[in-house]
Amino acid sequence: MATEWSGQQLAVLFCLCAVSGRPADAAAGTGASGGSGSSEGSRVLGMRLEGSDKPTGLSEDGVITVMEQSSVRLRFYGLQLHAGTGAQVRFTELTEDVKEDCADFTKDIGVDGVMNVSVRGTSGLLLVHVKPLRKSEPRKEYVACTWDGNGRWTRLDGNDGRLLVLEEKGSLLPMWLQVILISCLLVLSGMFSGLNLGLMALDPMELRIVQSCGTDKEKKYARKIEPIRSKGNYLLCSLLLGNVLVNTTLTILLDDLIGSGLGAVVASTIGIVIFGEIVPQALCSRHGLAVGANTIVVTKFFMFLTFPVSFPVSKLLDVLLGQEIGTVYNREKLVGMLKVTEPYNDLVKEELNMIQGALELRTKTVEDVMTQLGNCFMIQADAVLDFNTMSEIMESGYTRIPVYDDERSNIVDILYVKDLAFVDPDDCTTLKTITKFYNHPVHFVFHDTKLDAMLEEFKKGKSHLAIVQKVNNEGEGDPFYEVLGLVTLEDVIEEIIKSEILDESDLYTDNRNRKKVDPNKNKRDFSAFKQDSDSKVKISPQLMLAAHRFLATEVNLFSPCQITEKVLLRILRHPDVVQELKFNDNDKRSPHHFLYLRGKPVDFFILILQGRVEVEAGNENMRFETGPFSFYGVMALSVPSLDH
Ligand code: ATP
Ligand code: MG
Repeated sequence: MATEWSGQQLAVLFCLCAVSGRPADAAAGTGASGGSGSSEGSRVLGMRLEGSDKPTGLSEDGVITVMEQSSVRLRFYGLQLHAGTGAQVRFTELTEDVKEDCADFTKDIGVDGVMNVSVRGTSGLLLVHVKPLRKSEPRKEYVACTWDGNGRWTRLDGNDGRLLVLEEKGSLLPMWLQVILISCLLVLSGMFSGLNLGLMALDPMELRIVQSCGTDKEKKYARKIEPIRSKGNYLLCSLLLGNVLVNTTLTILLDDLIGSGLGAVVASTIGIVIFGEIVPQALCSRHGLAVGANTIVVTKFFMFLTFPVSFPVSKLLDVLLGQEIGTVYNREKLVGMLKVTEPYNDLVKEELNMIQGALELRTKTVEDVMTQLGNCFMIQADAVLDFNTMSEIMESGYTRIPVYDDERSNIVDILYVKDLAFVDPDDCTTLKTITKFYNHPVHFVFHDTKLDAMLEEFKKGKSHLAIVQKVNNEGEGDPFYEVLGLVTLEDVIEEIIKSEILDESDLYTDNRNRKKVDPNKNKRDFSAFKQDSDSKVKISPQLMLAAHRFLATEVNLFSPCQITEKVLLRILRHPDVVQELKFNDNDKRSPHHFLYLRGKPVDFFILILQGRVEVEAGNENMRFETGPFSFYGVMALSVPSLDH
């Protein structure tokens, strides 16, 4: 404040000296009109700028500069100043040709008549109103003239009395246009940054995937976007260039509108962050495809507009960074992605398991899924296909049975259960006869065969059971093939679907940990029909089975609702139940030959299993013969005993 003042005070002092040096001149000067008679003795000697409602300053040569259309407070210095001194101040235009004259006072600077004077009368404040300049005049200089009390108007000397009025720089565009432009730029800024995130986040691979398996709308969008997205760096450069261009223009326009640099920075920062970045990026990160496709024309236009800069830069980037391929998922990542996105995708657990299983097929070997040799059901090559062997085969529930010679690891053949269709256990055929007849090739695979290769082999029509072997070169001797176990198509499929398949005859859910299907499963037990050593009469298990089935189904009293099959079997297997009656031709009328006698009550039931029976019945003594599976004495079982 002190330094500001000092300059003006010096000027004032200088003026005082000058005036005091030539009082006579001042008194002799010819005055123009307008001087106030009451201002006798008051002299204005200098002028200083006190303030204004618009920007002010000093020109290079120290002249006060003010803006057109502003109110300016000027402080005048002098001697014996009073309120009326205001009326003794006028301004006149300063032109080249009129140097000293104070004749034509200007109306461009209106002076408030009353001066606000200090107590000592040495300074006073005067308010002046600067009128607008003419259109053609960018600036205009005026000079203050004061009434010197001697009937003359004189100019204030030097720069002290000069006032330079500058044209107020209006904005280039009307305000409404500026507002529209700023809004458009904000939208563009938002679009660029939104697209930058939305489009660049959609990698080329994803676009191709969407094109092949998205919804109709997604396919349409992806088809539109793909051509420009494939030029990734060019698109990136155009979008970034456009964004920066728009943002800087926005700041400049805001500066013009607001009129203050700081205000423009604050407003543009807030506007760009909220509407140019946050909102569009949040939107495009979710709906990038739709936004990108719908604004494709604008994007292409800007790509074209920024071509001279963005294309060469993008080419440079292509060379330096290489072509963008997009995200490629390998097997593990694909499985990982499916697992992570499980809550959001529409796959059910089974589908997910199957996909996972199918993808992991190549990573597993047959050794991982085979049934160990120790758990394999096999038969010896020299076995005889009698009822016992057959029933064992039936009980195992397996369809394909490896046949071994001497050692279990020496598998020589495969027996299919359907090969036994024509085999009668009574014939006691040797297994070799059957295997030689059918001569099924044994399907061997190595233990490290991958499951996908195994599946391919099974698909080719080879046996769906393969014997797993490996080359054993441990130890001293020659390497040899060591059988490890067996693998079937079911084992491979179970790995694909990642769950256990159970068929009607399966006894184990998992062949590896040998978990039983259901301990109470009604397993067919054919051993009950096998021949018993303590029975007096030997009958074949088949006949026993047939008798059992016949009684259970044909004779009501032995039906399962009257008596359980187990109990019926027990009865049949009782040593006294099956009896043989040999007919003696030499003694035809022997009482042993008669099963029933007319009029003699009995308490037993007879089912003929083999042979013939002659029946003589009725008053006419009708005779007829019956054969196997005819039965008599049902009444004896149903009618209460006569004893009771
Ligand atoms: P199919 O279902 O074709 O009639 P299957 O039921 O006998 O035949 P698979 O269903 O192929 O046999 O296999 C079921 C499971 O039993 C598999 O885990 C397989 O490894 C095992 N398996 C098959 N045959 C034998 C066998 N002879 N001994 C032991 N395990 C076997
Ligand atoms: Mg099966």
